[in-house]
Formats: sequence, structure tokens, C-alpha cells
Amino acid sequence: MTSTINQLSGQLKEQQPLARFTSWRVGGVADRLYKPSSIGDLQCYLRSLPVDEPVIWLGLGSNVLIRDGGIRGSVIYTRGCLKGLRDAEQGEVYVEAGVPCAHVAKWAAEKEMFGAEFLAGIPGTMGGALAMNAGAFGGETWSLVSKVLLINRQGELIERQADEFDVAYRQVSLADDEWFVACYLKVPAGDKKQSREKIRQLLAARSASQPTNMPSCGSVFKNPEGDYAARLIEQCGLKGKQIGGAQVSEKHSNFILNVASATAKDIESLIAEVQKVVFEQHGVRLETEVRMLGEEL
Ligand SMILES: Cc1cc2nc3c(=O)[nH]c(=O)nc-3n(C[C@H](O)[C@H](O)[C@H](O)COP(=O)(O)OP(=O)(O)OC[C@H]3O[C@@H](n4cnc5c(N)ncnc54)[C@H](O)[C@@H]3O)c2cc1C
Repeated sequence: MTSTINQLSGQLKEQQPLARFTSWRVGGVADRLYKPSSIGDLQCYLRSLPVDEPVIWLGLGSNVLIRDGGIRGSVIYTRGCLKGLRDAEQGEVYVEAGVPCAHVAKWAAEKEMFGAEFLAGIPGTMGGALAMNAGAFGGETWSLVSKVLLINRQGELIERQADEFDVAYRQVSLADDEWFVACYLKVPAGDKKQSREKIRQLLAARSASQPTNMPSCGSVFKNPEGDYAARLIEQCGLKGKQIGGAQVSEKHSNFILNVASATAKDIESLIAEVQKVVFEQHGVRLETEVRMLGEEL
């Protein structure tokens, strides 16, 4: 491994605390954190790893709860890298996994494309948005995708059409050993002014209804069919409920905030408590939207 590692041009950090890489500001230590310098460099890194090394990906860490015991193996970290964004053939847009969603929304608006505005309010990377089928205000990531470029555990690149995936609400079928390195989006032509105005309205609506100034991961739970998780949580009187440094937001009850140096354990305990109370009072099992990663202490 060492001789290949010496040829790599990305950044490798060992024993790296992950809290500052997540929007909740919690999480233990990763054995290895790798920020590739390019897709080619990422291929080399994956090929250099022992076959039994676990690999996990992290974008902007805005939809993960990394447990306090941290992550064994390698974390591939795309923030600030894999940032290609350009016009592609047939009016499509090529976007690499590390590009922030907000950047894609603004870029598309300036290019007179209409339909990607909802991405402006998603504080993650394009890779994370593909993995989660992130959506807001009626828009969903995969409604724009025509094809994707994947990388597998052996470092091979694979192109797949969007219709090769099962896509649902905050859910995409993705093999355990494949990840997104880029996608091609098809965004219809539109008017720059209209897009800019839509982005402005959407961001204003968001800051009026969400506690965006506190560490969170956005909505913790998926909305059950035909209902809203926030409504059920609020009806159970759980607004403001606190365990350790984790608190159910007073402003938006599907948000859990890190209000006082919370641990991942505090947050996970509060998630379990909300699920228990909602089930007892409404008979509904709330499923988490946020992904739990890593080991407990
Ligand atoms: C204030 C706030 C508001 C939010 N509002 C919304 C909203 O309106 N709508 C919405 O859908 N979400 C929302 N979110 C959640 C989050 O921003 C999205 O889910 C986003 O798409 C996550 O992107 P990320 O880069 O941060 O992914 P991460 O949190 O880093 O990762 C999320 C998951 O994707 C996987 N992953 C990351 N990159 C890749 C890749 N390249 N290939 C394969 N798997 C990958 C990770 O392993 C992990 O399982 C919000 C979050 C916050 C903090």
C-alpha cells in the first residue's frame, strides 16, 4: 500500500476527527480520510487499498450522523474536489460529485436553464444529492439526471443511464461498492430572471421556516405517506425535547439541533425517543432520512 500511496496526489490524513466535516458538528475519528485530486487519482487510491478496507463516502456531511466511535477504514471526502461543472453534449450539464448543489442551481440559472432552482436550498454536494435523491419545493435530483458516472471498489469507472436505478423519495438503488463521481443533468431552457427570483423566494421561505443558523442535518425523518413527520412530532408535544446537547427544534420539529456540544449518542438517543413516542401516540413508525455511519463508543 505504501509505495502506491507515495504516487498519489490527493490528501491523505490518518486518525482524522470528523466532527468538523459534518453539519451536526459531531462524529468520531476516521482511520483514513482521503481527498482525491482528480477522478484518476481516486482510481489510484481505491486500487491501492487492501481488499478488506471498508470505504465510505462523505460530501458536505449534511445528512449523516457519524457515531462517536468513528469510522474504520477509508472515508473518501469530496468537498472542494471533484468539482468539474460544464456544458456537455446535447444541451446537458456535466457535474462532478464534489460540486455544491447551490453552485449548480446558480450556474444553471445564469445559463438560462430553468428547473434546477430547488438545488439552491440543499446544503450538500451533487454526489450526496444523487445518493439521497435530495429534493425540495417540489423538485427532486433524479428528475434532472440523464446518466451518471460511477466508480467501483476496484477503481473502475462505469457509466449508467438514469433508468437503470430504482429511484424513490429520498432513496436510490446503489450497489454497496459503487459511488457517484459525476452526473449528466438535463435542465430545460428558461429565463435567467425567473430562475434568480425563484431561488430568492425559495431561500427566503427556507430561512423563515427552518432553524438554518444552528448545527443540524435538516429533516431527520422521512415524511410518512400522506403526512408530515414534523406534524406528528409536534402533536406529541416533543418540540424543545432535549437529551444531552441535542434538542428537537422549536421552529421546525423535524429538525434536531446540536444546541450544547451534543455527542452523536445524544442525537441518536433523541431520535429513538421521538420514534418511540410517535409510535405510541400515532402508531406510525418514523423512518430516518439521515444516514447513521460508524461505530458507537
Ligand atoms: C439545514 C439543512 C437543510 C436541508 N434541506 C434539505 C432539503 O430541503 N432536501 C433534502 O433532500 N435534503 C436536505 N438536507 C439534507 C442534505 O443536505 C441532503 O441530503 C444532501 O443531499 C446531502 O449531501 P452531502 O454532500 O452533504 O452528503 P453527505 O451527508 O456527506 O452524505 C449523505 C449520504 O450520501 C453518501 N454519499 C455522499 N457522496 C456520495 C457519492 N459521491 N456517491 C455515493 N454516495 C455518496 C454518504 O455516504 C451518505 O450515506 C438538508 C440539510 C441541512 C443541514
